[in-house]
Amino acid sequence: KKIVVAIDGPAGAGKSTISKLVAQKLGIEYIDTGAMYRAVTLKIIRNKIDVSDDVTLEKMLNSTEITLENGKVYLDGEDVSTEIRQLYVSGRVSEIAAKQVVRDRLVELQRKMALSKNVIMDGRDIGTVVLKDANYKIYLTASVEERAARRYKEFCQQNSSVTFQEICNDIKERDRIDMNRSYNPLVKAEDAILIDTTGKSIDEVVDEILLIIKN
Ligand code: C5P
Repeated sequence: KKIVVAIDGPAGAGKSTISKLVAQKLGIEYIDTGAMYRAVTLKIIRNKIDVSDDVTLEKMLNSTEITLENGKVYLDGEDVSTEIRQLYVSGRVSEIAAKQVVRDRLVELQRKMALSKNVIMDGRDIGTVVLKDANYKIYLTASVEERAARRYKEFCQQNSSVTFQEICNDIKERDRIDMNRSYNPLVKAEDAILIDTTGKSIDEVVDEILLIIKN
């Protein structure tokens, strides 16, 4: 039987950590769509592209290659996996992801990546737009305090000098933009199963999702 899993939810809900583990357990491919929006954002920042100009944006998108391979993200052949996680990229990504030209291009690419494969894909519009026909849809959430605390821990492990307050602000601001944009905002798909991960361990949530998929 075909397995297509859509995972959506706000920033820091544990989507990528959990999706990776579920993918490993099931031997299916994991597609991180947030990494793709981040890669486009990095290119825009580096090239100082005026994002109010749709024509320039579209030209840039048509000459950009984004690939996901073995858990790494490549932008025009360069491994940008670490760079795209920096706060200066996070701080601009939601503004850029709100643009229809950007979304249309990346959604097309994401659908191609998932074509005739068993996949688990995470993002903000997977169950509602990208893989509307997914046979499993999960909406992961957690309290904003817990989401910020988890992110902060990740940054600390990388010896980053970012403060808890900066992480908290980044998460809140991205959620605000992602949930309020006019084109395909972040909402729970009607047929998605809601999992609140507040106070739950990673393994607990992974098991919960595996149980949903097995039934
Ligand atoms: O998943 P991650 O937090 O890395 O995503 C970064 C940003 O990319 C989100 O805050 C959102 O603005 C955008 N995004 C999106 N649609 C997706 C995935 C990510 O708009 N499917």
